[in-house]
Amino acid sequence: MLHVVPPQVAPDFIRQSPLADAAGFCGVNPKTLQYPRYVNIFSLGDVCSSPNAKTAAAARKQIGIVAENILAAKEGRECSHIYEGYGACPLTVENDKVILAEFGFGGKLLPTFPLDPVVPRRFSWLLKAKLFPWLYWNGMVRP
Ligand SMILES: Cc1cc2nc3c(=O)[nH]c(=O)nc-3n(C[C@H](O)[C@H](O)[C@H](O)COP(=O)(O)OP(=O)(O)OC[C@H]3O[C@@H](n4cnc5c(N)ncnc54)[C@H](O)[C@@H]3O)c2cc1C
Repeated sequence: MLHVVPPQVAPDFIRQSPLADAAGFCGVNPKTLQYPRYVNIFSLGDVCSSPNAKTAAAARKQIGIVAENILAAKEGRECSHIYEGYGACPLTVENDKVILAEFGFGGKLLPTFPLDPVVPRRFSWLLKAKLFPWLYWNGMVRP
């Protein structure tokens, strides 16, 4: 099987800005997601330089951390909410079965459910095929 994907890059307005790191992503402290030089700038999602898997699951986790750390920075406190690199990739490995790969920095497994995370499951397939689309359209994307 040949799986061809384009290289992941940040949009030009970041890549060509002073915020870009050497690879063109918005350079942040990967734990606090705060820009090192301009401390009132935070970044998350695909555009930020944190070395996590670029997934919506990661962005969802980062949102709460960035929100708390912005409040801390605004009030002159230390950014104490730490991102562990969480990301999740539902990998369809057979008909009706998915490995819900949830991991953080360095590939550390961070399963949400108390189940062996490397076993393909129909339960995980149901999450990917039924629950996540519903959550996306009804919980994340609202008119
Ligand atoms: C095929 C595919 C499958 C995926 N499957 C999964 C999955 O199963 N699970 C998972 O968790 N993640 C998955 N992802 C990854 C997920 O889609 C991304 O990680 C997520 O969308 C990143 O969110 P973001 O808000 O950082 O960036 P984006 O969703 O890319 O949002 C950035 C937005 O900024 C807008 N924009 C760009 N330039 C400008 C500008 N100059 N001015 C104004 N707006 C601008 C863009 O139009 C876009 O709407 C998948 C991605 C792909 C491509």
